[in-house]
Amino acid sequence: MSLPQRTTVFIVGAGPCGLAAALSLNHQGIHDIVIVDAVLAGENSSRAMVIQAATLEALNNVGCLDKVLSVGDKVETLGLHDGSSYLLSTDFSLLSPYTKFPFALRVPQTETEAGMLEKLDELGIKVWRPFKVVSLKPSQDTEERLFDVQFESGDILKAKYVIGADGAHSHCWFLNLVRSEAGIAFSDLNGDEKHDYGNLSQLALGDVSYTSPPQLDTREGVSLTFSNGNFTLFTPFPADASPDKTRSVYRIVSSVPVEDGTAPHAPSAEYLQSLMDRCGPPSLSSDPAVNLHPMRVEKVYRSSRYCTRSAVPERYFARKSNSGGAVLLIGDAVHIHSPIGGQGMSLGIRDAISLGPVLKAHIDSANGVASDTLFEEWATSRHKRAISVVALTKRTLGIITASRRVWSPLLKLGFAVLRFLCTFKFVKRMVMYRLSGLAEI
Ligand SMILES: Cc1cc2nc3c(=O)[nH]c(=O)nc-3n(C[C@H](O)[C@H](O)[C@H](O)COP(=O)(O)OP(=O)(O)OC[C@H]3O[C@@H](n4cnc5c(N)ncnc54)[C@H](O)[C@@H]3O)c2cc1C
Repeated sequence: MSLPQRTTVFIVGAGPCGLAAALSLNHQGIHDIVIVDAVLAGENSSRAMVIQAATLEALNNVGCLDKVLSVGDKVETLGLHDGSSYLLSTDFSLLSPYTKFPFALRVPQTETEAGMLEKLDELGIKVWRPFKVVSLKPSQDTEERLFDVQFESGDILKAKYVIGADGAHSHCWFLNLVRSEAGIAFSDLNGDEKHDYGNLSQLALGDVSYTSPPQLDTREGVSLTFSNGNFTLFTPFPADASPDKTRSVYRIVSSVPVEDGTAPHAPSAEYLQSLMDRCGPPSLSSDPAVNLHPMRVEKVYRSSRYCTRSAVPERYFARKSNSGGAVLLIGDAVHIHSPIGGQGMSLGIRDAISLGPVLKAHIDSANGVASDTLFEEWATSRHKRAISVVALTKRTLGIITASRRVWSPLLKLGFAVLRFLCTFKFVKRMVMYRLSGLAEI
């Protein structure tokens, strides 16, 4: 079968956000969709591991929640530590007045994408691979406002609406094809281009097994540790999504001390253990001097690194010229920030799902020649949400980084105040509400 030559809605990129957009459009009764991806298979690296409650609501609304629920684990508690001592332990069940899904779903991004792909397949929607988009030009040979989408293969497709779900850097480093073809600038809001967050400027991630089972509070679904300007995260892999059915696998994330230089592209077991020894809680250390049950990372199933940057574009929507179709951007194409807080993919999926009804209304009103106000309104509201999430992650990074410089008695006092505040249910609920995305669906 060859690529169609014309479509109403064209989606560039079959990452989680492009797939969610296709599901949302189909749910709205829009079936004239083409979705392509430049590569033959989805990326198989360690990326998002948690889906927030607001995104579970959104996936449920487009009939795709069961697929991801069936492989994921419900995370009910989140523990925050200062080195070896507790700062806060909180519970997602506090969200029950606001959502049908008072938990976070622990599921690797590869499985989330697989679930969405399976659903699309059932609906008869195919992802065309490998088709790399190289340009978008206003169509010259038609009365309608259309794009000529050009592919590396030489194929050309006409489309009325183009959804850019091509990630943070589809073209080359930090340059996204659809966003740059639409002439939309992308930068850090505070001009904070150096992104100097000390040890948090880089993170290393690994899906690993250990030489012996970690001695941690097993009630804790996700365990976060902040100490001396460092950050680590530890969470068990859901059994049904584990890369190894014969033993327990864990996702670990650690900041990378500045003196280490650039983290390797695929960190090894030794590299990840050395980070955990220096930045993590004593219970994950291989040093018998600090851990009664010393243990080591034994095997790495997948690993990656992340350089902290943040940026949002000036607009989410554009027409390339009066004669061109509409370009709408979603996902990492329009917001990037540190994965701390596990917000990126969840926000992107909500961008995608919220776009379905807006496109439907645009198509329906006078057969698609409606005013672009609908798109402008959608774009403004999504832009606000992205700014708020970027600000949340930057604040978190700022607090952890600053803790390294704060006079130690003052820091201890700050932690004592935080511990006291977190004895109040409403404070815990506020934290969970903010993280869940429910405040800004
Ligand atoms: C190391 C790491 C850890 C992360 N951890 C978390 C986390 O814990 N929690 C969280 O929520 N998020 C996390 N994220 C972010 C999360 O992975 C992204 O937010 C998510 O992948 C964004 O999805 P997307 O669909 O917008 O883009 P992508 O997943 O990047 O998908 C874009 C797709 O577009 C395709 N494409 C690109 N250019 C073209 C082109 N010209 N033509 C055709 N196709 C094209 C690509 O091949 C790709 O498949 C992490 C990211 C990284 C890198």
